[in-house]
Parts: sequence; structure tokens; C-alpha cells
Amino acid sequence: MKKYEAMVLSCIDPRFQSKVYKYLESEKLTGKYSSFAIAGAAIGVTHKRFKKWHSTFWDNLGISIKLHKINKLIVINHKDCGAAKITFKGRNFNSKIENEVHQKSFFDIKKDLKKRFPDLEVKFKILS
Ligand SMILES: [Zn+2]
Repeated sequence: MKKYEAMVLSCIDPRFQSKVYKYLESEKLTGKYSSFAIAGAAIGVTHKRFKKWHSTFWDNLGISIKLHKINKLIVINHKDCGAAKITFKGRNFNSKIENEVHQKSFFDIKKDLKKRFPDLEVKFKILS
């Protein structure tokens, strides 16, 4: 079976699809990664507002590790993310708060990875 490099977790936002692709191309990863897109990327798979989605992400990651022999998870969040705003419904939202939401989601993924797939490398990126 062929070995691939990474699974990429990214957001469904239409404005960012080509940016994600170009970023991965610049990292020389074209054709070498599997892809998991969900609203909010790391926010969608960690924040309690989207709890139902979490196990789907971790199951997919497990399958990609098995099938594609990946050794890295690349997490690509982005600025002005609608999912980040949803987690702050009814409260004042600004770029400082948004950044905290992103950092918290990265921290939570790292924590879960340590438990579930301790050998997997992880890389975090925020596109703007
Ligand atoms: Zn988004």
C-alpha cells in the first residue's frame, strides 16, 4: 500500500478552498495528503457547540492513519471564520477573541492527539 504524508483538517468556507490548496502546494504536498473539511476546522472538531462532529473526525483520522499510512495531521484554520463566530453567539466578537478561539482549538486537538495518536506529528496554520 502506498504511503502518504498527512491528513489535512480544514474549513468548508468557499473563500479558502483555493488558498488551502495553494498553501499545501507550496509545502510540496500535492497528491500526498487526505482531506477532512468541516465547518471551523479545529474549532468544529473540538468546541462543545459542535460536539456531534468530534467522533467523526477522530474516526476519520484513525482510518487515514491505517489506510494512507500518514504520520502527520495538518490543521488549517482561517481568519473571519463563521464557525468561530457561532461559538460566540450574542457576545461581542473581535479579532482578539477570534484568535483565542483558534488557539484554544489547537490546544484541545494537541491534548486529544496525545491520548489517541501519540506518535502523530501535528502542524497548525491560520490562513487569512
Ligand atoms: Zn471557517
